[in-house]
Amino acid sequence: MEQVVLDKLIAETKRYKVDLRLDASFDKLTTFGTGGKIAVALFPDTERKLVKTIRLIDRLGVKYVLLGRGSNVLASDDPFDGVAVVTTKLNRFVIRRKTAVAQCGVSTVALASALAMQGLGGGEFLACLPATVGGATVGNAGCFGQDVKGIARSVTVLKNGQVRRLKAVDCRFAKRDSVFKHSDMTVLSVKFALQPSTEEAVRKRIAEMRAQKAASQPLEYRSAGCVLFHDSVALSRLIDEMGFKGYRVGGAEVSTKHAGFVVNIDKSTSLDIYLIIRRLRRALLDRYGITAKTEVRLINFKEEKNDLFAERKE
Ligand SMILES: Cc1cc2nc3c(=O)[nH]c(=O)nc-3n(C[C@H](O)[C@H](O)[C@H](O)COP(=O)(O)OP(=O)(O)OC[C@H]3O[C@@H](n4cnc5c(N)ncnc54)[C@H](O)[C@@H]3O)c2cc1C
Repeated sequence: MEQVVLDKLIAETKRYKVDLRLDASFDKLTTFGTGGKIAVALFPDTERKLVKTIRLIDRLGVKYVLLGRGSNVLASDDPFDGVAVVTTKLNRFVIRRKTAVAQCGVSTVALASALAMQGLGGGEFLACLPATVGGATVGNAGCFGQDVKGIARSVTVLKNGQVRRLKAVDCRFAKRDSVFKHSDMTVLSVKFALQPSTEEAVRKRIAEMRAQKAASQPLEYRSAGCVLFHDSVALSRLIDEMGFKGYRVGGAEVSTKHAGFVVNIDKSTSLDIYLIIRRLRRALLDRYGITAKTEVRLINFKEEKNDLFAERKE
């Protein structure tokens, strides 16, 4: 980033009091715990500051990436000469009757817990995601038959510099997908509609879900959950069938507990993880003719590496 641009960024964000760091790196901001240095990381703590930040970045023509908890991203090991806008300080939400409105950086676990206290059901799955509301909405995250699509009523976004509200139907939620994955909109906040239940029932459901996750997933290691998905096929079973459990590159491994997970078991680099994902995709295509989609978002990989569909053999 040119010094003159950096200076402007520093001066402006200082003026409206946005926390700015010049020593951030993706390994500290992602659940994989891998990835290179980031030129600038910004941590706005109000919606107004987030809007101003994005408008400023747009005006300066700087490349940027939004980050929630970083639990669905793989950032390359190379330095990122741009800005990471981290939303985790936007952590306010309001629950009124059967609805909740949450800012994009709200922890899904914290929201699930508050919904439980109010005896509101339908959002129990949120307790199982190490995520923010914004990140979960972008990927229509879900598990155990629940997902964001099932409870989101509207999403307030910043689009082309303007704040707008999208109805759920306009968010085009689909399996691990939404309109936000294919645009540069910023999710500012989300309104959810829940079902009346009891605190006891909601807590019981959360405990059951968590127990199931703990029994079947390698939660003791750093990961980003399942790395690949397919609209209609359970890929982890096929990956297991091909004998990939325990397949290792450098410090990364296909989990021996859940074949859908790639885990950072010993100071893995992002490249190690990337090579495993590519190998799995290739094998699924060769053996079953299945084109798996990459669930994690790749950040700052060189163009040719970004293409996990690349036909070449390793
Ligand atoms: C142990 C483990 C278990 C998991 N289990 C599941 C599961 O059961 N089901 C499931 O669906 N996922 C699961 N995941 C994956 C992950 O937690 C979810 O995809 C989660 O919703 C990502 O949220 P995040 O806040 O971490 O987003 P990030 O990883 O920070 O970001 C994800 C994407 O959203 C974008 N983004 C983030 N915030 C915004 C915003 N405000 N506006 C616009 N774009 C934004 C980012 O740029 C990026 O492209 C799991 C991950 C782990 C580590």
